[in-house]
Amino acid sequence: MQPDSTDPQPEPAGALSAVPAAGARRATPVSGHLRFYYGPMDCGKSTLALQVDHNHARQGRVGLLLVRMDRSGRPQISSRIGITRPALEVGAEVDVRELVRSRWARGERVDYLIVDEAQFLTAAQVDQLAELADDSQVDVYCFGIATDFQGRLFPGAARLVELADELRPVQVDVLCWCGQAARFNARVVGGRVVREGDTVLVADTETARGATEGDDDVSGSGTVGATVRYRVLCRRHFRLGDLGTTADVQGQLAFA
Ligand SMILES: [Zn+2]
Repeated sequence: MQPDSTDPQPEPAGALSAVPAAGARRATPVSGHLRFYYGPMDCGKSTLALQVDHNHARQGRVGLLLVRMDRSGRPQISSRIGITRPALEVGAEVDVRELVRSRWARGERVDYLIVDEAQFLTAAQVDQLAELADDSQVDVYCFGIATDFQGRLFPGAARLVELADELRPVQVDVLCWCGQAARFNARVVGGRVVREGDTVLVADTETARGATEGDDDVSGSGTVGATVRYRVLCRRHFRLGDLGTTADVQGQLAFA
């Protein structure tokens, strides 16, 4: 006798319940979702963004790719593994609702939005994204860094934390020099961790585009006149400003 072949399989929890589980209710497409995938530099957020786009496109859905503060001159979402897709640059003055509605007015479909570098969105733009999700059933996928070089939430990230339906840490395989998971982006000038300065300090040259994602070596900033780099550190070493013995080794994380 093989009980397993005759006994009914255990039901998945909630599958046949009169009242669906909260997760199942959320899956009902009465409104769009606003999701925020966050992680430190180099954790693969842009790669995930493009993967999400690919998955939706395969289902026949049409998306719009947006990016904030792309300095490359060619707005795009680029992953470290070499996949690149053109994207629309969204300046701080852009009303994302109008952007999407103008597409609809032209008869184009926009079923979902992919927003890279979402930490640079204004709080108002995050509100606009939430409105698109609620009132227009647009699914919004935001990808970005949560905290700045001072360990504080970027304005866009803060608003996403407040409003998003789901917050998903991107699986971190980025390590501090000590081997711990690295969650903080330290700004390094002259071999030392600095804690003061503009929140957003992105180099203007194309080669230095990786200020927020990609290369951890960012040079050419005209603001401070010295080489500015970003290093990912664990919380302890971020707190201590301890770059370890490999502080001068550039490209430690450049496993591309
Ligand atoms: Zn560490």
